[in-house]
Amino acid sequence: MEKYDVIVIGGGPAGYVAAIRCAQLGMKTACVDKWLDEQGKYRLGGTCLNVGCIPSKALLDSSHHYYYLKTEAHAHGIRCQELQMDVAAMQARKQEIVKTLTQGISGLFKKNKVIHVTGQARLISSTEVEVTVPPDKVDMLTGTSLIIATGSLPVHLPITPVDQEFIVDSTGALAFQQVPKQLGIIGAGAIGLELGSVWSRLGSQVTILEALPDFLSFADRKIAAMALKELKKQGLNIQLGAQVTATQVEQGQVQINYQNAQGPQQLQVDKLVVAVGRRPNTEGLNGQAVGIALDERGFIRVNEHRQTAVPNIYAIGDVIGGPMLAHKGSEEGILVAERLAGQKTELSYETVPWVIYTHPEIAWVGKTEEQLQSLGIEYKVGQFPFMASGRAKAQGEVSGMVRVIAEAKTDRLLGVHIMGANASELIAEAVVSMEFEGSAEDLARIIHAHPTLSEAVHEAALAVEGRAIHI
Ligand code: FAD
Ligand code: NAD
Repeated sequence: MEKYDVIVIGGGPAGYVAAIRCAQLGMKTACVDKWLDEQGKYRLGGTCLNVGCIPSKALLDSSHHYYYLKTEAHAHGIRCQELQMDVAAMQARKQEIVKTLTQGISGLFKKNKVIHVTGQARLISSTEVEVTVPPDKVDMLTGTSLIIATGSLPVHLPITPVDQEFIVDSTGALAFQQVPKQLGIIGAGAIGLELGSVWSRLGSQVTILEALPDFLSFADRKIAAMALKELKKQGLNIQLGAQVTATQVEQGQVQINYQNAQGPQQLQVDKLVVAVGRRPNTEGLNGQAVGIALDERGFIRVNEHRQTAVPNIYAIGDVIGGPMLAHKGSEEGILVAERLAGQKTELSYETVPWVIYTHPEIAWVGKTEEQLQSLGIEYKVGQFPFMASGRAKAQGEVSGMVRVIAEAKTDRLLGVHIMGANASELIAEAVVSMEFEGSAEDLARIIHAHPTLSEAVHEAALAVEGRAIHI
């Protein structure tokens, strides 16, 4: 039986980062993962690298280039004749990126002396892990500490049985080999909007059915309203308050019955994507048998140090809930590793950045006005439209704005909300400022290079005290 200081179960962004950090800190570390690629080979990287963040961004970039050449390049004097989209080439590029990055993690494991154990892990006791590789290979490992990072799986609805041919989840929607003429999507969350954008840019007629009456209900209301308008302008038919009541696959088409404020509706599509959230993955782990407690939604319960009900077993990433984001899981991995090494690492969930990679991008950190109102916190807001930014004009990317929210009494930054080109990068400045408990004035007094999109963040911070220069 092989003995380790730490056994990490799951090699996604939470688990692989935890394993590398543990090894850097001198712990003998193994990382067990069961992910198999299309060729039946074991791969690290979890959902994020294999069927999540990375492949979706590869397709978003490819489809954006196509859409840009088709609809916007002419404004720059660029004429394209016979523009064609080679979907197979786009998918091959995506697969190559995934392969390179997942192999990169194997390389990092070697460099840091993390042992990659392949197979399905099952807890036997608080220190023993059984690892099975079908058909009949079974190994036993023991670890002084265990870190569970088994991630999440897509939620499937009983009325939309996923067959990965006509009714697919995000994994299926990343792998279409042809552009569906009519594409239905259930759920206008991050996945619905990102993958809806990909296929819409390539020519699909996309209809997104969202159950809630509000669009991006957890985002800033003004940014959400702007984003809805912009995405509709791009051709996404986003229907709010739409409840799917039945689906049926018939002669290669999916018939969808749904109900909205106008009454019962019908829609026929070539493919239907179910993108209604993800659920914790504890399948086959046997965690409860060794004393790990789950909450009512199946997430592993942890304390502020990400320790489960069993003191030497920790859990991180999607499987413990909270924001289901790769960077949140990775930071939890670092926190647990450093605490195991005796350090006093802390992590603030107040400054987790959120990004939706539509075009323009939507990004935010901190609280919205509605959250502050419900907490009874008085605030002031400064905003600046990209329309008034010289760089945005030069780039031809003028839609969107930056909104900076600061506490009325102290001027402390409470939230920054952006819709605009490169919002995913611009938000980093706001995260740093908030993490350092900066004020709107701090942001307003920092010199920003000209001409850059970041000047819009600067101007929005100036606008908090009504002293923006360019509006
Ligand atoms: P996972 O990445 O799910 O990894 C868990 C790993 O554990 C898997 O490899 C699994 O095989 C393994 N495992 C599970 N059980 C066992 C077991 N018993 N034995 C052995 N191995 C096991 N997040 C972002 O921050 N930015 C994005 O842009 C983004 N885009 C996304 C796009 C899509 C289409 C999807 C689906 C998700 C996206 N996410 C994004 C979310 C992100 O992928 C997850 O938050 C992240 O992968 C969670 O990391 P994790 O390590 O907790 O779990
Ligand atoms: P989500 O929670 O972001 O959105 C799901 C949407 O589906 C919600 O708007 C919800 O109201 C709606 N919905 C739920 N049930 C419904 C029903 N029966 N009918 C119609 N609508 C329904 O989930 P997702 O888009 O599936 O993404 C899953 C996870 O992956 C999220 O937690 C997200 O954080 C993560 N993710 C992140 C990114 C990113 O960071 N850019 C990208 C993709 C995914």
